Amino acid sequence: MGRRLEYGPMGSGAVTAAGGGSVSDLADIIASLTREVADFPTAGVEFKDLTPLFADRRGLAAVTDALAGLASGADLIAGIDARGFLIGGALATRLGTGVLAIRKGGKLPPPVRTEQYQLEYGAACLEIPAEGIELAGRSVVIVDDVLATGGTVSAAHRLLEGAGARVTTAAVVLELVALGGRERLAPLPVHSLRRI
Ligand code: AMP
Repeated sequence: MGRRLEYGPMGSGAVTAAGGGSVSDLADIIASLTREVADFPTAGVEFKDLTPLFADRRGLAAVTDALAGLASGADLIAGIDARGFLIGGALATRLGTGVLAIRKGGKLPPPVRTEQYQLEYGAACLEIPAEGIELAGRSVVIVDDVLATGGTVSAAHRLLEGAGARVTTAAVVLELVALGGRERLAPLPVHSLRRI
């Protein structure tokens, strides 16, 4: 369970954990505002719920600032359903780009482009509209909350490249290193704000 944070005035950089310890860097802020839930959504998975991080005004600002530094130069941000939408929208606004919502299967009206993938806990598919958005030649950064096995980002990558986009980077808030997502996605550059 994350620690409660108490912040100093906006812009002071002073961030103090409720327990008294200093948590001055971004990884510690993310850790402090992550809710860890055992055996969700299935037995054996430790779910990292970043809802408290995104609901915290300084947490969201810190994450958005850091990702903006990593994604500069993109002309479109692609956020993965559903928590990637939150980061993607904030990031696109900060960078002055548009945001493309990469939806889970069955949410978009036809025609759609579809890619199947495996999750840490099951199978699924991702979709984008097959018309109405020009992706050919666009420089796109994919964003999501958590990188686990990399299957989701890999499917998003295939989907975008299949539409002619050039995916330059994948950027996530939290990387579960032992699950090997970074290696699976190579040579696509992957940036994460916290690794565990
Ligand atoms: P993967 O395709 O295995 O990299 O899984 C990443 C996607 O599933 C992201 O969209 C995450 O939101 C979600 N996810 C997978 N594992 C976890 C986890 N342990 N905690 C939170 N979200 C997860």
